[in-house]
Amino acid sequence: MLDLTRFPRAALTDGPTPIRSLDRLSTHLGSALNGVRLFVKRDDVGPVGGGGNKLRKLEFLLGQALADRADTVITVGALQSNHARLTAAAAARLGLACELFLTRSVPRDDPDYTGNGNRLLQDLFGARVHLLPGEADSLAQAEARAEALRSEGRRVAVFPSGGSSPLGCLGYAACAAEIAEQAAHLGLDFSRVVVPNGSAGTHAGLAAGYFALGRDPGLVLSYAVLASEAEARAATHHRARETAALIDPALNLPEDGIVVDGRHRGPGYGIPTEGMREAVRLMARTEGLLLDPVYSGKAFAGLLYDVGAGAYPPGATVLFVMTGGVPGLFAYRGAL
Ligand SMILES: *Cc1c(COP(=O)(O)O)cnc(C)c1O
Repeated sequence: MLDLTRFPRAALTDGPTPIRSLDRLSTHLGSALNGVRLFVKRDDVGPVGGGGNKLRKLEFLLGQALADRADTVITVGALQSNHARLTAAAAARLGLACELFLTRSVPRDDPDYTGNGNRLLQDLFGARVHLLPGEADSLAQAEARAEALRSEGRRVAVFPSGGSSPLGCLGYAACAAEIAEQAAHLGLDFSRVVVPNGSAGTHAGLAAGYFALGRDPGLVLSYAVLASEAEARAATHHRARETAALIDPALNLPEDGIVVDGRHRGPGYGIPTEGMREAVRLMARTEGLLLDPVYSGKAFAGLLYDVGAGAYPPGATVLFVMTGGVPGLFAYRGAL
């Protein structure tokens, strides 16, 4: 139904990630659940670099880079970027050199933020790191560096923030097909699939995938953690359209198929909220599962809020995609 075999893929995942119900959390919440059944998909586990949602995108991005015989990959992100960490790990796994252009976009310069968590791991995976001020155009600098390396005879691939090019988003289009297949096996028909929205590629890919499968892309709901609600919706629609068109040029994904909620971002990207703290603690203490402080903690806080507010009818089945980011917890020790 969704044939992506013509796109080269680097092997960075281990087959379908598990889906399971949140039984102990549900018991704990009791009547506050309003009869909703909560499930998680464990995209936070993976065989490279500590796992996380960027591995699905990197399978396609690095698959193409290897097909182009690249020897070096460059990407961009915030100082605590999970995408930068996983790009460095995947490059190590595939024998490629990796350079990261990291911006100080979160107003923090304490040692937990600048030296622990993902920053520690980016170094450990052997990436060459370039640190930039928060307002720098990191992608322009990455492109300039790529040109300089090319002039020395290197073959360089540059990936955008979050790996959210149409090619990268295919990773989550494939995930939509994976979820549809797992749901059929489980005898479930998810009323909603919930994700965090940062660079918008996870949402965009899932929406494009469902659309290509003939399903409603509005099945997917994201909670924006980086851009405002309106900006995140526009960016997600743009990427989802491009991704769908890459799958099949005849696909024309409508704007009203993109559902984004911006009410749980709080003061800004990477800035903790009380809802995030509660969600991270609740999931840890009732399920032994780890959300992260920047993305999945805020998104899960949004989901808990909506469930409690009666946004779903009793009996609705909701799938939350756990996207990883565990190293971020160590950079947010003080907030937790
Ligand atoms: C990047 C990231 C996200 C957001 O995914 P996008 O595709 O950038 O919207 C969510 N969770 C974690 C842990 C991430 O690292």
